[in-house]
Amino acid sequence: MNNETKKIPYKIYLEEHEMPTQYYNVRADMKKKPAPLLNPGTLQPMTFDELRGVFCDELVKQELDDTTAYFDIPQEIQEFYKMYRPAPLVRAYCLEERLQTPAKIYYKFEGNNTSGSHKLNSAIAQAYYAKEQGLKGVTTETGAGQWGTALSMACAYLGLDCDVYMVKVSYEQKPFRREVMRTYGAKVTPSPSESTAVGRKILADHPGTTGSLGCAISEAVEAATSREGYRYVLGSVLSQVLLHQSIIGLETKTAMDKYGITPDIIIGCAGGGSNLGGLISPFMGEKLRGEKDYRFIAVEPASCPSLTRGKYAYDFCDTGMVCPLSKMYTLGSGFIPSANHAGGLRYHGMSSVLSELYDQGLMEARSVEQTEVFKAAEDFARIEGILPAPESSHAIKAAMDEALKCKETGEEKTILFGLTGTGYFDLKAYEQFNNGQMSDHIPTDEELQISFDGLPRV
Ligand SMILES: *Cc1c(COP(=O)(O)O)cnc(C)c1O
Repeated sequence: MNNETKKIPYKIYLEEHEMPTQYYNVRADMKKKPAPLLNPGTLQPMTFDELRGVFCDELVKQELDDTTAYFDIPQEIQEFYKMYRPAPLVRAYCLEERLQTPAKIYYKFEGNNTSGSHKLNSAIAQAYYAKEQGLKGVTTETGAGQWGTALSMACAYLGLDCDVYMVKVSYEQKPFRREVMRTYGAKVTPSPSESTAVGRKILADHPGTTGSLGCAISEAVEAATSREGYRYVLGSVLSQVLLHQSIIGLETKTAMDKYGITPDIIIGCAGGGSNLGGLISPFMGEKLRGEKDYRFIAVEPASCPSLTRGKYAYDFCDTGMVCPLSKMYTLGSGFIPSANHAGGLRYHGMSSVLSELYDQGLMEARSVEQTEVFKAAEDFARIEGILPAPESSHAIKAAMDEALKCKETGEEKTILFGLTGTGYFDLKAYEQFNNGQMSDHIPTDEELQISFDGLPRV
């Protein structure tokens, strides 16, 4: 162990009365705000009235509000959170010991719920506001199924219908999350399907297609907008999702403050940016207000490098081009990671909030290759005991690298990272790694240029 006496416990939990009662909206403290969502037809900022046909009213208000710093967390959501929160903040003593680093490593573990990730934090909020509005249910898409699982749990709790369009190839090849969703009462439809006009068209044009996320989004949006009493919900990327995920950072900050701990470096994996945005929000707020300084590091796959190699431009949020345009670091909505990519974080763009913070130089980004990510996952599982999700393992890899730098320099830095979930449903990817069959693919500049050429002209 480190020479210090272990005044800090292995796990720091909050008491119920210490849990956050408000979400924090980091946009309120940004002097230069993220660019607004645009209507792809008129290229004007999306209005409340345009968005409310797709999303429920309260969530549209949250999406468009970049000045209110705090939003009360409704009592019913606070009660749901108490079933699986507070999430522990863990001092990785075993990992520090194994790495022989003078660094102090902490991680916030979001895998302590059946859905296995942080996505439940926003799923319950989105379902709650739909219920409050008197809606019958919500629709969404899911790829491998983390988001669909989280949403089905939230809808079951609140008694809402949950319609999930699941990419057909995942529906057929990944039955486990599909059955978890059905157990929680969700209706899971393989996409493309005969149940929507857009699905029927895709099936007619491409018989035998195994589907894509873009196609599933188009079906889910149609299923929401063509029926009375339904709205569409999305599990990442949107500013409202970062707002709900601020619960991660707020709990972490309260726990650290209790013990007088200040992180020097805060690290998170970045797909659409919701966990990273949520973890860093309260710390970034301090930095934006000039009260404290931190280093923030976003970690993404080398095979899907939106921050490190993307363009900061307006683009479609979805491959189906039905959603509004968002200004973000993007690889182009037509970008598809190479077929051998197994580590998640496949989204082509990045939250507009994180994109703007990165563009202003307030946050760093780096990319890592998947074989080193799975090696870090394996080490972490053996040393700290938790089988991490491949997504989370991007953050583990970067945290270990930073800790090893401290070993060289002798600096006693405090490193905090987000451990977003568990990897029990990702064992096919682990199997590939264990069999030595995993390889890395880094797209060439030419490959990226092809998808940049498809960016909308704004
Ligand atoms: C969905 C997911 C992510 C990536 O999503 P973000 O919106 O970037 O946070 C990361 N880890 C896990 C376990 C996930 O399920």
